[in-house]
Amino acid sequence: MDQDVAPKISFVSLGCPKALVDSERIITRLRAEGYELARKHDGADIVIVNTCGFLDSAKQESLSAIGEAMAENGKVIVTGCMGAEPEQIEREYPNVLSITGPQQYESVLDAVHRALPPVHNPHLDLLPPQGIKLTPRHYAYLKISEGCNNRCTFCIIPKLRGDLVSRQANDVLREAENLVNAGVKELLVVSQDTSAYGVDLKYATSPWKDREVQARFLDLARELGELGAWVRLQYVYPYPHVDDVIPLMGGNILPYLDIPFQHASPDVLKRMKRPAAQDKTLARIKRWREQCPDLTLRSTFIVGFPGETEADFQYLLDWLDEAQLDRVGCFKYEPVAGATSNVLDGTVPDEIKTARWNALMARQQKISAQRLKRKVGTRQQVIIDEVGPSVSKGRSKADAPQIDGAVYVASRRPLKVGEIVTAKIERADEYDLHGSVTGF
Ligand code: SF4
Repeated sequence: MDQDVAPKISFVSLGCPKALVDSERIITRLRAEGYELARKHDGADIVIVNTCGFLDSAKQESLSAIGEAMAENGKVIVTGCMGAEPEQIEREYPNVLSITGPQQYESVLDAVHRALPPVHNPHLDLLPPQGIKLTPRHYAYLKISEGCNNRCTFCIIPKLRGDLVSRQANDVLREAENLVNAGVKELLVVSQDTSAYGVDLKYATSPWKDREVQARFLDLARELGELGAWVRLQYVYPYPHVDDVIPLMGGNILPYLDIPFQHASPDVLKRMKRPAAQDKTLARIKRWREQCPDLTLRSTFIVGFPGETEADFQYLLDWLDEAQLDRVGCFKYEPVAGATSNVLDGTVPDEIKTARWNALMARQQKISAQRLKRKVGTRQQVIIDEVGPSVSKGRSKADAPQIDGAVYVASRRPLKVGEIVTAKIERADEYDLHGSVTGF
């Protein structure tokens, strides 16, 4: 290889925002060592595939991404969730260079160094402090812990990623501050179980600025809110201490909670072994909304879990009517190899799963549309994601990137990506809002 030319790596990142953060960390390190990213497999010196192994369909997607990389390039390093169980990959693609599991950054880097030694170039080795981001520059995912202490029966993440390991508060805050200094306007706090943050550290304190900060959900949220960017809390379980975060919302801590409830029927929740499953959830939602009327609640649900009866499903529909959630995603239960729910009795036939999925989506769509309509006539702050000639696409505080709806705003002056403007909402359709900019 010509020593003046930086070695090129093509990177495929599959899976959830958490996997994306892993990819960003690997890329940040590789860039620091002088590697360059290639746009295509063909022409790259090597390909890294960060896989997802959460559902069988995700495994299939990961396998075909590996196949594509093998066909187009032939030098392939596999990492990520699926790498925790390498047998299937080895069987189908015996010639991949290396397979490592999630968070094994050092092993991925070792594999890259072996196959493609770094070229020292003092100009290329420089790296902006925030690292190289795959997500747009104006928002960033902030991963506060790895793994999970829960044992939900349908999930193999604890098996793949192990028990909860939280980062020290000052480590998280330093990264967040770097991101904000580099122009990030919105921090998305992610982990498998965000509200359990710090339990494993026994809420240890660490020095930050002129004070000590505890590794505790509430303390971390408060400190993140001081940095000046929007802070969006995702994957929050409704443990009792979540109540204390609600009064912080309104400023930079967005009035938004993403709580994966998964079901409402106590019996199904018991079989799912969900954390913080309790019948007082509806009362708490009501209280949260009294305290913070603008609170947006997003959740996901699973229908057709083994043993889910018609009565359980009706209970869920009635619960949704009461809860009046703003945004809902729904999955049909899918057995995942290695999950303990696979041995539960009461498999729900596919046609019933589909019927329940349709019924839930139809019911929720009405609720979501009504809630969205209430915003017509209000003024909302909107962060701009994509700029158009006269209408730009953005999100209000109620919309997380990639999963929620958008706000389309007309503006007389050209807008910039990452700019936060005030818009008057003029109309709502099923998922999105439309309006015009009234303030900058
Ligand atoms: S909380 Fe449950 S679903 Fe979420 S990662 Fe942990 S075990 Fe899996």
